[in-house]
Amino acid sequence: MKKHHYNPDDCTACTSCVIHCPVAQAVREFQGPKLAGPAGERFRLMEDDWETALEYCSNCKNCDISCPSRVPISTLTMKARAQYYKTHKQSFRDWLLSHGEQMGKMASLTPTLANLGMNNIVSKAILKNVGISDKAPLPAYASESFSKQFKKIKQQPTANKAVFYPGCFINYNQPQVGLDVVAVLQVNNFEVIVPEEAVCCGSPLVVNGYMDEAEANAHKNIAILQDYVRKGYPIITACTSCGLMLKQEYQELFASKGVEQVAGRIYDISEFLLELYDEGLLNTNFARQEGRYLYHAPCHLRVQGIGKPSLELVRMIPAIEVIDADAGCCGISGNYGFKAEKYDIAMAVGNNLFETIKASGIGSVLSECGTCRLQIAHGTGVKTEHPIAVVRSAYNQK
Ligand code: SF4
Ligand code: SF4
Repeated sequence: MKKHHYNPDDCTACTSCVIHCPVAQAVREFQGPKLAGPAGERFRLMEDDWETALEYCSNCKNCDISCPSRVPISTLTMKARAQYYKTHKQSFRDWLLSHGEQMGKMASLTPTLANLGMNNIVSKAILKNVGISDKAPLPAYASESFSKQFKKIKQQPTANKAVFYPGCFINYNQPQVGLDVVAVLQVNNFEVIVPEEAVCCGSPLVVNGYMDEAEANAHKNIAILQDYVRKGYPIITACTSCGLMLKQEYQELFASKGVEQVAGRIYDISEFLLELYDEGLLNTNFARQEGRYLYHAPCHLRVQGIGKPSLELVRMIPAIEVIDADAGCCGISGNYGFKAEKYDIAMAVGNNLFETIKASGIGSVLSECGTCRLQIAHGTGVKTEHPIAVVRSAYNQK
């Protein structure tokens, strides 16, 4: 597991991160991550001014991916943002966007009302008034959360157990992804456990400067997951931002007991299935699928350094055609593109990907990240799915 340390002096000023920062390409005022993270850090040690990095950085992590000296640039910026908010108050809008878990819990009581509330003209005007773009692709709430639906599944009991950490987006917005994960694990002889007490991974809290709350969530999740890791169970995620937090950002941000032990057992679902394949244990009894897809690798997957496991996995399905779009960041970066003043930046960042998708003439895009899927559908009008949905249908049709 990659482990970071935080000395900004590791920076050799090569500027690779600046070239690879999609926001710096889209916004003239933002001078990019070299100044934002490592160099800015030197000044921040002396003063606590607000600066462009704290305003514009989306935490997409393309700078970290490109850095030859493995400086955790975006984490330095997130820490600086949190430091700034120790003495300044966040907006109500930032509170709302950081607390998707609480919003999801409330919405799951009356999902129809909550969706009506988000999508009518009056509430869009209210959202706009607090600083959320009325053009942004806000997600709808599911009629029933993943956790509730999971409890009704009658699983085939097996000796192999795997823990699934759904995260807020799958739990409250797209539970079908979680149901597909459970079905695919069952086909591969794993009984799935979902720890009910687990909380939001903290990713939306970190980007908006609520570091103390994120840390409390990290300690709680680590304590819960550690018990399962001790039993030898793998922990599966299907959202790349949750996976990144549990695997890597907890280690970079928080000194929590057991954090490394848990991190070493976190797997993206496709990464896990590929490991099974390497051990000769994957059920490869896939039905032919004639579909053509483009694949978009989320930035928060690429920074994990595990390649593109879902691309490899889906390409095992007979007759399927999947082309790697390889066209950079979609721009949304969690909830960044929902913010009124960031909407145009997010759309400009995603433009290369949108144009690549449109030029391909392919009407379906696969991607592991829920908000990438929303942004891609918004920017192109194509259908988007989590790759595990395709894997599940290939099993179902056998
Ligand atoms: S995290 Fe993304 S937006 Fe922020 S500095 Fe790095 S590359 Fe730029
Ligand atoms: S890529 Fe790394 S070493 Fe190069 S300028 Fe950026 S932080 Fe410094």
